[in-house]
Amino acid sequence: MTTAAAKQQDYTFKAEIKQLLHILVHSLYKDQDIFLRELISNASDALTRLHFETLTNPNVYDADAPLAIHVDPLEDENSDDKWLIVKDSGIGMTAEELARNLGTIAQSGAREFLARVSEGSAAPGDIIGQFGVGFYSVFMVADEVRVVSRSYLPEAEAAAWVSHGDDHFRIEPAGKEDRGTEIHIKLKPDATEFAQAWKLKQVIKKHSDFVGYPIYVGEEQANQQESLWRKPAGDVSDEDYKSFYQQMTLDFAEPLATIHFASDAPVNVRAMLFIPSKREKGVLSIRKEPGVKLYSHNVLIQEYCTDLMPKWLEFVDGVVDSEDLPLNVSRETVQNNRLMRQLSKILRRRVLRKLEEVAREQPDKYTEFWREYSRVIKEGVAIDPTAKDETLPLFRFASSKSNGNLTSLDSYIERMPDDQAEIYYVLGDDPNIVARSPHLDPFKTRDLEVLYWVDPLDAFLAPLLGEYKDKKLRNIDDAGLELPELPEEETPAEESEPKLAEPDFNRFIGRCVTTLGDRVTEVRASKVLKDSPVRLVSPEDTPNREMERIYRYLDQNYEVPKRILEVNRNHPLVADLAHLIASRPEDPFINLAIEQLYESALVQEGLHPNPAQMLPRIQQLLELTANSKSAG
Ligand code: ADP
Ligand code: MG
Repeated sequence: MTTAAAKQQDYTFKAEIKQLLHILVHSLYKDQDIFLRELISNASDALTRLHFETLTNPNVYDADAPLAIHVDPLEDENSDDKWLIVKDSGIGMTAEELARNLGTIAQSGAREFLARVSEGSAAPGDIIGQFGVGFYSVFMVADEVRVVSRSYLPEAEAAAWVSHGDDHFRIEPAGKEDRGTEIHIKLKPDATEFAQAWKLKQVIKKHSDFVGYPIYVGEEQANQQESLWRKPAGDVSDEDYKSFYQQMTLDFAEPLATIHFASDAPVNVRAMLFIPSKREKGVLSIRKEPGVKLYSHNVLIQEYCTDLMPKWLEFVDGVVDSEDLPLNVSRETVQNNRLMRQLSKILRRRVLRKLEEVAREQPDKYTEFWREYSRVIKEGVAIDPTAKDETLPLFRFASSKSNGNLTSLDSYIERMPDDQAEIYYVLGDDPNIVARSPHLDPFKTRDLEVLYWVDPLDAFLAPLLGEYKDKKLRNIDDAGLELPELPEEETPAEESEPKLAEPDFNRFIGRCVTTLGDRVTEVRASKVLKDSPVRLVSPEDTPNREMERIYRYLDQNYEVPKRILEVNRNHPLVADLAHLIASRPEDPFINLAIEQLYESALVQEGLHPNPAQMLPRIQQLLELTANSKSAG
């Protein structure tokens, strides 16, 4: 015999809970009905835990009690008080458990809620309705609550937890013969509508329709209870998918895509998966973590199963149900189970197939998807480069021929001329800036398409990706890049006679060297530039030149990397400067112009630590120009 249940004992709530209760009791707000969702969800959890227990433990109290939830209004014969009772035949609680679970520790949901309130991001009344505040939400409608419980443990005794929502609660012995928990709620005068059966049914339908146990109001079952995902896809309407998704997540935006399928071989699986329209899970979401719900034989095995989706698809939400999973699997065996690996492969293929379909049939929607989730996918590949074969077809980039749209690698390949062997890309910060990149000069002359890799993660992934469909991915800032020869008359370097005489050009090169000092490793003539005066290229043996960009994004002791400055001998600006050096070598305009050319090239490359620093020099250049114009 345990004695804990035999005597009465008073407790004070943990400080956090007091705070929470204060908010719940004193905030006037509209979504009172969520208290029922919370109590039913606790009842459902308790039933699932009980069900689990019975699979392995023959020694469960009241083993034959049907698994169900009852929600019943109750009139008080001696007064006008209205009561409501929420009852389950679940796992139950001992006196100690009542004290611990309902008063002396704050559940994570409650703590998170308080954090939000103290952040001040929203008034409590605005967010309670959407937030899993848990058991204590009952005090939004209750003057007094009495939780009577009988644990599944054969030797336990029934006990009751009683509170008025003030600072205290009491644990006392109770008489209850059947297993499970009953919550007796004395309704506040402004909440008596919850003593009406129609109201209860309406609220259950709204929030708890797919709870996996029958919920009775009186004799009548108020929820559908069926597992929507087990129905054939043809029997499920768009409306059903939407309401299932919304009940599961409380995300009121429609999912971007829905995947529903069943298969019996090689593994039995029923799955209903969703790609939410937004990656960010708001305060509004019930589902706090990534992962799908894993069921077997209608029992929820894992609420957030992350072993079924690769990291790069972690945003996929939904339900996976497999009869092949042994019912009594422990969470550890779930993780390294061959069946789980098979399941995971099937699911991944289905999701990819769906994404291909969206890309083909609803390109705008796919673009939305890519903007929302490219981060996750790229991060996933960064962590696991072996995923690149599966994920690269999902990638989209702007390009020199995409007219502001995005293109896939596959359609890039389709457009490649026969003699093009590699896939070209240029790295930078912004599509508008890279569109003017001097590296593009030789590609424009040859009408070759170049992808714009302008996401910081692209630079990070560049060295990991290597190739796609046997075509090397090639960064065009590579000085040694070999491009197809051009017909004689179009070759920029051999264009008629160079406008600039050899000695003048050499003097210009020399002046660049002295002005820029060791900021560049070399200054030399370019063989490829056409429209641009200069460009920066990496010395041949630079390891990981893509990474230099990353350091800039990360802001970690970023040092501007040293590059080779290539100069376009045929550019009028270069010619004018060279002539100025010949005639007035001391003119201050010369050095300023060289500095500016160099820094503009850094911006172009996405390597400039702080472009705003250029402004004073640009001002000086303007002043000098204006001055010479007005004098001349
Ligand atoms: P959460 O459900 O997020 O854990 P709650 O505040 O809703 O938080 O519930 C607190 C705890 O009280 C639960 O974790 C559970 O241990 C216990 N509990 C609540 N309701 C029941 C119930 N009907 N049967 C058994 N245990 C319950
Ligand atoms: Mg709960």
